[in-house]
Amino acid sequence: MDFVEVDLLKTAVSFEQYPDTLVPEIALVGRSNVGKSSLINCLTNRNKLARTSSTPGKTATINFYQIQKDRYRIVDLPGYGYAKVSKAEQEKWSAMIDTYLSKRYNLVQVIQLVDARHAPSKDDITMADWIRHYNFNTIVVATKIDKLKKSQIDKNLTEIYNDLQMDNNSILIPFSAEKRTGRNDLIALFDEILSN
Ligand code: GDP
Repeated sequence: MDFVEVDLLKTAVSFEQYPDTLVPEIALVGRSNVGKSSLINCLTNRNKLARTSSTPGKTATINFYQIQKDRYRIVDLPGYGYAKVSKAEQEKWSAMIDTYLSKRYNLVQVIQLVDARHAPSKDDITMADWIRHYNFNTIVVATKIDKLKKSQIDKNLTEIYNDLQMDNNSILIPFSAEKRTGRNDLIALFDEILSN
């Protein structure tokens, strides 16, 4: 699979604003600042396609990216669990995520991103439960792996695997947007998801 011809198709805040359902969608979820935009930019070799930021909590939108002239889409869901926004705002974001996950029938897979440096947060664990609840296989990308010492990697990945109740059917991909680690694995995974 080639990530050529990638474009932001649509930015939505409500269900009514979603684009048509004619092509399969793969959604990315994760805490605010987990590295979702950096991952999208790394996959697509576009520095500024998705907006990255060192200060988390930018406006919550659902961004639909069309890949290969809309053969399929990558959907960037709002980052959850950003403590500095109000509870009401956080609830609004979570409702946006829930609406998308529960109503989008052309959604073929959800991929959850967690920060490889830390144990999964309560929100990460809730999200993993939610994803299982919607009957998706658990696929987790552990981001910012370049920030870990070699000796820490296995220990942290095991913690993520256990805390998110992953099993033999689950997939855990260590990833670094900075070093492009795991990029090929992710691309192969996208291929596999879309060939099913
Ligand atoms: P988002 O809020 O999930 O979209 O996160 P961003 O992609 O904006 O990244 C948040 C911060 O983490 C930014 O300062 C990025 O430069 C940094 N970051 C993202 N991915 C990586 C990575 O693989 N390695 C390192 N070292 N930093 C990263």
